[in-house]
Amino acid sequence: MSDRTAAETSLLDIAARRLPGGVLGGQRFADDLAFVVARARGSRLWDVSGREYVDYLLGSGPMFIGHSHPAVVRAVTEQLASGSTYFLVNEPAIRLADELCRAVPCGEQIRFTSTGSEATFFALRAARAFRKRDKIMKFEGGYHGSHDYALMSQTPKSPKAFPAPMPDSAGIPHAIQGEVLVAPYNDLATVEALLAAHGHELAAVIVEPFQRLIPPQPGFLQGLRTITQRQGIPLIFDEVVTGFRFAYGGAQEYYGVTPDLATYGKIVGGGFPLAAVVGRAPIMRGFDPRLDGSPDYVSQVGTLNGNPIAAVAGLATLAELRKPGVYDRVRAIGGALRQGLADLVKKTGVVAQVVGEPSVFDIVFTDRPVVDYRAVLTNDGAKLRRFNEVCLQRGVLKGGSKIYVSTAHDEGDVERTLAVFGEALEAVARM
Ligand code: PMP
Repeated sequence: MSDRTAAETSLLDIAARRLPGGVLGGQRFADDLAFVVARARGSRLWDVSGREYVDYLLGSGPMFIGHSHPAVVRAVTEQLASGSTYFLVNEPAIRLADELCRAVPCGEQIRFTSTGSEATFFALRAARAFRKRDKIMKFEGGYHGSHDYALMSQTPKSPKAFPAPMPDSAGIPHAIQGEVLVAPYNDLATVEALLAAHGHELAAVIVEPFQRLIPPQPGFLQGLRTITQRQGIPLIFDEVVTGFRFAYGGAQEYYGVTPDLATYGKIVGGGFPLAAVVGRAPIMRGFDPRLDGSPDYVSQVGTLNGNPIAAVAGLATLAELRKPGVYDRVRAIGGALRQGLADLVKKTGVVAQVVGEPSVFDIVFTDRPVVDYRAVLTNDGAKLRRFNEVCLQRGVLKGGSKIYVSTAHDEGDVERTLAVFGEALEAVARM
């Protein structure tokens, strides 16, 4: 890639001074590879120096129909002239609520939030209010955002015996550890034993139906549904990633398992800050402000809840996704990229495997079957970093441990990317 311009260097200097770590969140590149985004369109993104990247980060997932999609730009531009936010019910929010409830198998009612973290936080609160218990169960390695309950055993470096949680961040009150039980993903026998012992004190079980990169083993989600139903424990699917990505009805439709509540984010806001809790009416009714003062009332007020700009962007995105053949096509393009990468792994003889679904997957440098977080821990971090660095140097942008595919990627992107993946794997092989 060409050199960084003085203008971009100057911006990076300001970022380094003003933003902790020079970044907005967790996505940080090596200093010599850092760049400042200038613009993005379709499957491509450009930095301030004019360098072009094929984008598989996609804003960490929301841009499933590509950047600056004309339908989204049109909808947002039109809505802007009518106001940006009202703190009141508005037509776009009502239409998006209706569409979400139609699309999502468990969707009877919905509550909007601004971020996926808020959605999982309030889904858990609603479940506690409904079930009149405090504790929750989550899965080791599962990510549900950045709040105190979610950041338990998401990335434990030396995991404890189940169900003891490990906080992932400083600053989380110690007491929260007593409120969260941690279970192994894809291990139904252990989950069943933990629920037999602790089910009576649980308000909810929350799970990413497809955990980070790991698909559920056949029967795992079905078993989880059966056991939680038997014990009357609300089951929450965190569909922030899978919602509208795996199928129009999300992972619930894709895997054929219906939870009690689901959390949505990313794609549903069309690249704007919008997320939601969706679910069965008896639990969702807790959010009704007419219950204020009763023991069932779940307080959840947000300045931007149901923001009309985000809602029209979401509606325009969902309209694109309802067009015939969209999911088949993204599966075909993503599948070709995933298979191409797997073939390159075989050809270069690097110890690695490709894990995930056609629209979201990555390379994992281990020979252990990747069925749970402890297997992910055996991923060779140095090799993954090298792979990612070579990709970035050659104009392929991906997340630290995820490749997101959009409907905007095409055969040309796949061809260009596989050439880069080949070089990246050769660099890893030389390590
Ligand atoms: N749940 C899952 C499964 C996620 O992947 C994310 C974000 N990556 C969140 C929740 C949190 O969403 P947000 O970043 O919008 O708070």
